[in-house]
Amino acid sequence: MDTDDYWDEEGLGVGGCEACPELVESRSRIVDGVGPADADLLFVGEAPGATEDERGEPFVGRSGDVLDEGLRAVGLARRDVRITNCVRCRPPDNRDPKTAERENCRGYLEREILAVDPELVITLGKVPAEHLLERSVAVTSEAGRIHELSIGERTQRLLVCVHPAATLYDPSQRETFNSALDAAAEYAGDGGQSTLGEF
Ligand code: SF4
Repeated sequence: MDTDDYWDEEGLGVGGCEACPELVESRSRIVDGVGPADADLLFVGEAPGATEDERGEPFVGRSGDVLDEGLRAVGLARRDVRITNCVRCRPPDNRDPKTAERENCRGYLEREILAVDPELVITLGKVPAEHLLERSVAVTSEAGRIHELSIGERTQRLLVCVHPAATLYDPSQRETFNSALDAAAEYAGDGGQSTLGEF
C-alpha cells in the first residue's frame, strides 16, 4: 500500500485511509500516536479499544492508567513519551487485528518510528512484539530484553514488555511490567548506552 497518499509527515498521522474495510466499519476515527515527535521512548500497542476509539488517543482507560502509573514509578510522565499502535483503527468486538490489517498499517508505524527516531521502541504485549520482530515471542520470559529491529537501512533498538492489562488480570505480571519499564527508562537515560538485558 502506498502510505504517501494518507500519511501526514509533519503531524505524524494518517488521514482518510480506508485500507481495512472491517476496521473502517467499526472505527469512529483513526487513532494516531500521541506524544513528542522526538521522544526517546516510543511505546507500541496492538490496536485502539473502545475508550481509545472514543477519545482518539492510544492507551487510555484502565490499561492507560497502569501505563501512566508504571511511567511515574520510573520518573517519567505520559507527556515525556510517544505512544502508538500497530493498527490505528478499532477492530470490531475488540478482536485482535488480522495479519492483513497489521500489514496494511505497517507502513504508517514504520514511518512514525523512523520520524521519531527514539532511543528505544517498547512493545506492549504479544501482538506488537511479534508484528515488529516478525517471529513468535514469549513475552513474559523476554520482557526487559532489548532486540534489534531493522526498518529499511535503519537499525532500531526494541524492548519487549508485557501488556499493561496483563497486570490487571494477573498481578504477578506487575513486577515484570515494572522491571521492563525500569530497563527502558535506564536505557533512554543512558542515551542508549546501557547493555542491560541486551540481545
Ligand atoms: S488500520 Fe491502518 S491501514 Fe487499516 S484502515 Fe486504519 S489507518 Fe488504514
